[in-house]
Amino acid sequence: MSSKSTRVPRRDLLKAAGLAAGVVGLGGVAEAFPTKPTNRGGMRAGEKTRVLRIAHLTDMHVQPELEAERWFGDCLRHVQELEDKPDIIFQGGDAIMDGLGVGVPRARLQWDLFKKIMRSSCSLPVEHCIGNHDVWGWNQQKSGATGRENLYGKAWAMEALDLKERYRSFDKAGWHFIVLDSTMNAAEKIYTARLDQEQFAWLQQDLERTDKETPILIMSHIPIISASAYFDEENEKTGVWMVPDKWMHIDARRIKNLLGKYKNIKVCISGHIHLVDRVDYNGISYLCNGAVCGNWWKGPYQEYPPGYAVINLYADGSFDHEYKAYGWQGTGG
Ligand SMILES: [Zn+2]
Repeated sequence: MSSKSTRVPRRDLLKAAGLAAGVVGLGGVAEAFPTKPTNRGGMRAGEKTRVLRIAHLTDMHVQPELEAERWFGDCLRHVQELEDKPDIIFQGGDAIMDGLGVGVPRARLQWDLFKKIMRSSCSLPVEHCIGNHDVWGWNQQKSGATGRENLYGKAWAMEALDLKERYRSFDKAGWHFIVLDSTMNAAEKIYTARLDQEQFAWLQQDLERTDKETPILIMSHIPIISASAYFDEENEKTGVWMVPDKWMHIDARRIKNLLGKYKNIKVCISGHIHLVDRVDYNGISYLCNGAVCGNWWKGPYQEYPPGYAVINLYADGSFDHEYKAYGWQGTGG
C-alpha cells in the first residue's frame, strides 16, 4: 500500500471497526491489548511442544529519511533481545520505501541501506518475501526504466535478498512453509495482487505433494483475506464495500477454494495494510501483521504502532501470536 491511499478519518474508522468486530476478530497490540495469552516458554511438561518461534517483520519501507535506519535497527535488536528470543525472522516484503517509481540511484540507495542494517543488526536466519514496493521500475514514467534493464521488475529485489525464485516452499521444524509472490504487473495500474497461472499451478502441486499430516504456514506480502482492508472512506461515500485489487488478493476466492481442500493449512500471514487483524475462515487463520514502519515512519498508523508479530508454532499444528510494539512513536511530519 502507499500512504496516500488509506487516509481514513478516525471517526469513520471507529464506526467501521465496530461494524466489523462481530464478524472477525481484530488483532491487538502487544502490551497494550493482547490478542491471546502467549505461551511464553511454551515447552512446559504436559503441554504441547513448541517447535518454532517466528518474528514476522513486514513493511520496513527503509529509506534514509525520518530516522528509518536507526529505528529499523532498533526493531531488529528488540526482536533479538526478547526474553524468549525468536528462532528466525520472516521478512514479509516492502523492505524498501519504494522501487516502483524511482530511478537507479534512489533504488540502489534504499537497497544498500536495507542490506547494511541487516548485516549490522541481525544475526538470526531470515526468510524473505517480495513486496510490491520492492519491485523496481514498473512505474516507467516515474522511474525512467525501459523494461530492458537487467535489474528491472523483481530481479533487483531477488538479487538484493539473495532469492533464487520469486516464490518457493521449504520444510522446517516439522512444518511446511510456502512463500508467495503477490505482485503482478498490471500495465497502467502498475500492479495488482494475485497469483499468476504458473505460480497457482505450482501452489496446487506443492500442496498436493506435501504430507497431509504436516502443518502448513503460507506467507504472502499482500493479504489473501483481511478485515482491515475494508477501512476505506470511499465505502461510506458510495455505499458499496470495495477493496481495491492492490490491497487484497483479487483472486482470494480462487485461492481460498484451493486452500480449503487441505486441512493441514493452518495459518496465512501477510503485511501490506500496515494494520493488525485476524480472519478465521474455513479452518485457516489469516493474520495481517502490521508494519515495522507504522505510518511510513510518521508514527502509529490508525490504531497500530510500528511493530512486528511473534508467532509460535507447535508440533500439533497449532499456533499463537502477538503483535509487539518496539517503542517508536514517530517524529511527526
Ligand atoms: Zn505493500
